[in-house]
Amino acid sequence: MQYEGSIYRPPSEAHSLIVQATIGCSHNRCTFCGMYKDKQFRIRPVEDILADLTEMARLYPKAGRIFLADGDALVLPTEKLLAILSHIRMLFPDCRRTAVYGSPRSILLKQPDELEALKSAGLGMIYLGLESGDDEVLRHIHKGMTAGEIVAAGLRVKDSGIPLSVTAISGIGGKKLWRGHAVHTGEAFTAMKPDYIGLLTLMLEEGTPLFSEATGGSFQVLTPEEVSLETLVMLEHMDCEGSVFRSNHASNYVSLRGTLNEDRPAMIRALKDALEGRRAYKEEYLRML
Ligand code: SF4
Repeated sequence: MQYEGSIYRPPSEAHSLIVQATIGCSHNRCTFCGMYKDKQFRIRPVEDILADLTEMARLYPKAGRIFLADGDALVLPTEKLLAILSHIRMLFPDCRRTAVYGSPRSILLKQPDELEALKSAGLGMIYLGLESGDDEVLRHIHKGMTAGEIVAAGLRVKDSGIPLSVTAISGIGGKKLWRGHAVHTGEAFTAMKPDYIGLLTLMLEEGTPLFSEATGGSFQVLTPEEVSLETLVMLEHMDCEGSVFRSNHASNYVSLRGTLNEDRPAMIRALKDALEGRRAYKEEYLRML
C-alpha cells in the first residue's frame, strides 16, 4: 500500500491506522491552510480502499482505531462508506472506532437516517473544522460556509449520536477581528456542545494567501498575550457542559485541558496567570503544526 502525498490526521488519531478514502480536500480554498494544496481532490475507488484495508489487516490485525483520510472522507456516498465500515468490522474485530474529517457541506448533504446508519455500522467520530464562529472571519479566510451552517452541521452529527469533535483556531481573525472571533466562536461552541473541542493557535504557512497578507501587512498576527486574552473571552462565552476542551496542541502558547464547564475557572485562571506574568508562554521555536 502506498500513501499519496502528505498525510494529515487529528492529534487524537496519532495511534490509528490511516487509510486514504479521498485524496486531498473537497474545498481546498481556506486561505490559512496549505495541507492539500499539492493534491487534486478525488474520491478513491472503493475497491482500492477495501484492498488497502485487507493489506493493513494482514500487518495490523489487532488495530484498535482507524482513520479514513484525507480531508472530508464523509463526502463519499453513504453506501460506499457503509461498504468500507462493514469491511473494517469483518477484518478488524478489535477496532473500537473509525473516524473521518467531515466538512460542513458533506455533513449537511447526509440525511439524519444516513448518519444514523453510519453510526450503527461503526463510524465513531466526525472531526469538523469550525475555525471561527464569526461570519466576517469565515468570509475572510474563504471557509465557504457561514457559522450558522457549520453549527447546523454539528447539530446534525450530534443528533445522530456520532461523537463530534470540533476545532477552532485562535488568532485566525488577526488584530482586526479578534474580539468578534472570540465571542462568536464561544457562542458557536455553546450552540453545538461538541463532545470534544480543540483550540489550535494560528501558525502561518509559507505559500498560503494568509501568509502573503501577513507579510504584506494587511493581516496582523496576534501576540501570545493577545491570543491568551482572546481565549479567555472565548471561554467566558462558552457554555458547553460536559465537553472535553483541549488547547494543548504544539501550536498553543498556553496549554489548557479540562472538562467544561467545571474546569473553566481553572483554565481562565491559567490564562490570567500568563497575562499577569506568573506563567511562561511556549517559546516560538517550540511551536509547530
Ligand atoms: S482547512 Fe480544512 S476545509 Fe479548509 S482547505 Fe484546509 S483541509 Fe480543506
